[in-house]
Amino acid sequence: MPKLDLYNLALPDLESLMHDWGQPAFRARQIYRQLYANLADDPAAMTDLPAALRERLREEATVGALALERAQEADGGLTRKALFRLHDGAVLETVLMIYPDRATVCVSTQAGCAMGCVFCATGRLGLLRNLTPGEIVEQAMWASRELRRWQGAAGRPGDREAGRPDDGDGQWWGGEGEPFTERVTRRVGRITNLVFMGMGEPFANYDRWWQAVERLHDPKGFNLGARSMTVSTVGLAPGIRRLAEAPLPVNLAISLHAPDDELRSSLMPINNRYPLAELLDATRFYIERTGRRVSFEYVLLQGQNDHPHQAIALARLLRGREGPLLCHVNLIPWNPVPGAPLGRSERERVLAFQRVLLDYGVACTVRVERGVAIAAACGQLAGAPAAQPGAPPADAIPLLSQ
Ligand code: SAH
Ligand code: SF4
Repeated sequence: MPKLDLYNLALPDLESLMHDWGQPAFRARQIYRQLYANLADDPAAMTDLPAALRERLREEATVGALALERAQEADGGLTRKALFRLHDGAVLETVLMIYPDRATVCVSTQAGCAMGCVFCATGRLGLLRNLTPGEIVEQAMWASRELRRWQGAAGRPGDREAGRPDDGDGQWWGGEGEPFTERVTRRVGRITNLVFMGMGEPFANYDRWWQAVERLHDPKGFNLGARSMTVSTVGLAPGIRRLAEAPLPVNLAISLHAPDDELRSSLMPINNRYPLAELLDATRFYIERTGRRVSFEYVLLQGQNDHPHQAIALARLLRGREGPLLCHVNLIPWNPVPGAPLGRSERERVLAFQRVLLDYGVACTVRVERGVAIAAACGQLAGAPAAQPGAPPADAIPLLSQ
């Protein structure tokens, strides 16, 4: 029987626990601050608590439930991936991406995924299980501590030069040799962005995922603004409608990947359940309800969905008979997944696709790639014991900016 995971408790839950333990209510707030503001990972570090309470916490609860099985880094240390094992043997992955002026954590919401998209490593695993709110929240805490550790180490000037430039202005990076040291002078103090784009489909685990959002957002705790969070969905229309009515303004990204139902169904089985018309209806509802722009993700697969006529079809779809959608398209060159009979679109093809969309007045960027060498890039997270053998080293991959 696993112990109580403190990350699974909202502040009122902690308050009632303290009440049950005969402690004053302010102890709950102290613990909460220790967990989410001080990033304490052990009751022993909560030195503002009485020793007896720390001891009881140690005996009856844990700070977190994830056992770090392996940590890897790429991109000169600026991309850091953790593989965690859960008490029941399931695995999940989290990725921290450090930029000159921000730090983004990519969080998993399920161990594995049931959606079976053909281009995705996680989809090939199938669903192992849903993550608890605590297991989702804990990934952000790991990333925060990891960032702090990295900053300690990166304080040594030599280490900082290891990084590569890859944030920017929507252009391909040609400047492999550009000086980077100056660019990391502004130290990122904390996690500034969180994307639910790791393993799993967040809307298939909606309630637990939302509890994690609330916890991470809570100004009394971790205090990350909802506008700094983005959730990506495979296109579960009911989840999109639900988010439209949710009380916190979390950003929405929708995995589109094809401009017509036939192709989309062949890449993403969920399209049989929620075809494009229904998905776009839900998207319109979301935009009308929230006034917020959505992002459409579009993975480019050589010869499958990257032809200029498909770019035109996509532009028409998004401009729509009912008027243009308030949206932005994020093109993602496909990251290698061993065994998948697919190819990555060539750079010229990506740029041509982007140009068509821009010509049609659709805002469109190409996603920065991170961590390909350690299989930490989009869609490569599968809990494999080592880096994917087929993946080219990160240095061989041209970097794209968004
Ligand atoms: N399940 C959610 C969120 C996780 S996947 C979803 O599907 O949206 C995050 C993004 O990575 C999605 O847009 C997904 O389509 C994309 N992706 C999956 N496999 C990929 C791959 N091999 N290369 C590039 N992007 C991939
Ligand atoms: Fe699941 Fe998203 Fe991968 Fe599809 S792309 S299998 S929904 S994680």
